Amino acid sequence: MSIALSMMELVSENARMNNAKKISRINVVVGNRSGVSADSLRFCFDALKEDTIAGRAELFIEETTATARCAACEADVDVGPYEFACPVCGGPVAAKGGEELSVRSIEIE
Ligand SMILES: [Zn+2]
Repeated sequence: MSIALSMMELVSENARMNNAKKISRINVVVGNRSGVSADSLRFCFDALKEDTIAGRAELFIEETTATARCAACEADVDVGPYEFACPVCGGPVAAKGGEELSVRSIEIE
């Protein structure tokens, strides 16, 4: 909830600086290893946006996935939030990415 709140403060501040009447769309990126689920972010956002400049804004969430190249079998694999083993051969993998959690852009009117 605190993450949704700080996102809301960020976009509201940004909209105010641009003399916006309202925010129509908010684009965010959420990685699968960011510790935040897209569903809970959306839920919190919808609860917070009432009676704000973003009251009618739509939230678009782009979900990114951590990836890795297995050092043992060289497979390129997607890595889930709590996975540290190659799904192909079981070897250890070092995941890259998936940690994004940010507001990419907003659209204002
Ligand atoms: Zn492997």
